[in-house]
Amino acid sequence: MKPDQPQFAPPQDAGERKAIAPVICYPVDSLTPAPMALYQAARVGANKVDEVLVPPRDARCFTVPKGHFFRISSVQGSQVGDLNLWNADDLSERFYSGKTRALHGTHLSTGDRLWSSFPAMRPLATIVTDTLDWYGFDDFGGGVHDVIGTRCDPYTGNLLSGGQYHQCCHSNLTRALADHLKVPLAEAEPFVHDVLNIFMCTGFTRDTGQYFMKASPVRPGDYLEFFAEVPLLGGLSACPGGDCSSEHSSDEAACYPLLVEVFAPDPSALEDWSAPAVNGYDKTHGR
Ligand SMILES: [Zn+2]
Repeated sequence: MKPDQPQFAPPQDAGERKAIAPVICYPVDSLTPAPMALYQAARVGANKVDEVLVPPRDARCFTVPKGHFFRISSVQGSQVGDLNLWNADDLSERFYSGKTRALHGTHLSTGDRLWSSFPAMRPLATIVTDTLDWYGFDDFGGGVHDVIGTRCDPYTGNLLSGGQYHQCCHSNLTRALADHLKVPLAEAEPFVHDVLNIFMCTGFTRDTGQYFMKASPVRPGDYLEFFAEVPLLGGLSACPGGDCSSEHSSDEAACYPLLVEVFAPDPSALEDWSAPAVNGYDKTHGR
């Protein structure tokens, strides 16, 4: 945080320096846009092939074949979800929330892509429908579906207030992945990574730049839907914070399940589509 009382006086030209207009770090104009019309046409004839209900304060894994759609829905009550994504064929390729944020901004919506870690760095999934896209940014600077938070975890909870709380999203995702892979918790935990905070409403305070959350605007029936660009293993935690209106990392908040549904399009609808190639950098790093 910036100090209330700076140790150094502003230089003569401080005003001039601060008045310089910003430039976007990573303009995405040169990125090939997602073929949204093709996805929409494929979605029309798609049939539901699978579903997973994620219990409150817990997580589940799910798989999505390449070229299928998956939808995450609010059911029963306002609930935030923490999403992890891996390439199902190679778990070392995983969702990279920081790079996704650098490319698409702090909060995601329709047309944005969920990029994978180095060296593959390609879209793992593309958002095709967001029933909360009307929210935009509120007067506090808050928006939904952020890639700025990490995931609630027992380590930060222990650091800030002591105690041993086991239903944080990090632990939920660790248990779910361990169960899916049939490996011990210690083997699964390093694969858990920073999330897409589905339905969570967050931002940075204007005065101190601190990460804030507020009650999610999500209501039962709202959903976020994705197209799987590669074969996916997903992990979704129904955050112990519920709608994240007050706190997480405890059993105080009202929590509800989240529904994951998978839809298979008619294969002929994707004849003109191919999965994104891995990144073209040659990995020689100057040697
Ligand atoms: Zn959480």
